[in-house]
Parts: sequence; C-alpha cells; structure tokens
Amino acid sequence: YTGKTGAEIPLQEIKELKVKEYQSIPVVVGEADSVYDAISAMFLEDVGTLFVVDQSSQLAGVLSRKDLLRASIGKQDLETMPVSIIMTRMPNITVCRKEDFLLEAASLLIERQIDALPVVSEKDNHQYEVVGRVTKTTMTKALVHLVNSERPLGGNRS
Ligand code: ADP
Repeated sequence: YTGKTGAEIPLQEIKELKVKEYQSIPVVVGEADSVYDAISAMFLEDVGTLFVVDQSSQLAGVLSRKDLLRASIGKQDLETMPVSIIMTRMPNITVCRKEDFLLEAASLLIERQIDALPVVSEKDNHQYEVVGRVTKTTMTKALVHLVNSERPLGGNRS
C-alpha cells in the first residue's frame, strides 16, 4: 500500500470513526413516483439504491437495483406502476444514524446482506428523515482514505 508516512493507525481510531464523517448524499424518490422514473433517477444520479419518501418527506421505503430489475421483467407498465408497490417498506428498513460508528453500519450491511443504509434523524415515533447514505462503497473509500491520509475524510471528529 502507499501510506504516506508509514505511521501506524491505532485500531481504536478505526473503531471510533463515525458515520457522519463518511456518509454521502442520499438520492430519494417519492412513493407515488413511477418505477420508470426510479430507474431514470438511478441512472442519472449514479447510485445503486434509492430511498423512498412519503408526502411529508419521511422514509417510506428502499429500492435496490434488483427490485427495479424484477419489476421490469414483468408485463406491467413501468410508467404507471408506483414504486410503493415494489419497494421494501417501513418498518422493515435497516437504518443508521450519523452518530453511529462506521463499523456498526458496516456490520449491518454484512448481517442483513444489503448494499446501503439510509442515515436518518428520528422525528417522533419511527418517523425518519433521510439525511445521508452509507454503502459498501463508503466502506471502501474509508479504508483507502484511512491508509492514505491516516485522517478520516470530512474532519469533524468531535
Ligand atoms: P440488490 O437487490 O440489487 O442486490 P440489495 O442487496 O441492497 O441490492 O437489496 C436486497 C433487498 O434488500 C432488496 O429487496 C432491497 O429492497 C432490500 N434492502 C436494501 N437496502 C435495505 C435496507 N437498508 N433495509 C431493508 N431492506 C433493504
């Protein structure tokens, strides 16, 4: 590897990395949007997972690439089919918060065999606002960045 100084990164430092230091921007669609529009958004925004929000902008569902592929091989009209009928929906969504440890989020991705987690801030009783996105790519970037700079991206470690 090409670590700049060759200094060691203490394991404790890796364990203390927070989601908020590495999270990326979430891409969301509305639950009334069509499957066709969701496929367009996935290409245009270059993400593998979309989050679905309801009319009050609260997390309602998740759409993966395979969810959209599965819908596309059916006979239905993608332009009139709302994403709400194919998405994985609340309360069955695995989420994380920006103050969580990045390693906890990584463990959830592995345990649940999913590619992405929405980073949420909790309003009241299970009403989640989507504030970020953590994916397997996030973990790859964190690993490379740690080794190359010995400092996490985004600075704010308080
Ligand atoms: P793909 O389906 O393209 O392989 P995933 O492995 O991420 O992508 O998704 C597998 C299934 O899990 C999909 O049906 C998807 O809707 C669902 N899923 C993805 N992310 C989450 C999540 N954070 N919480 C709950 N379910 C999810």
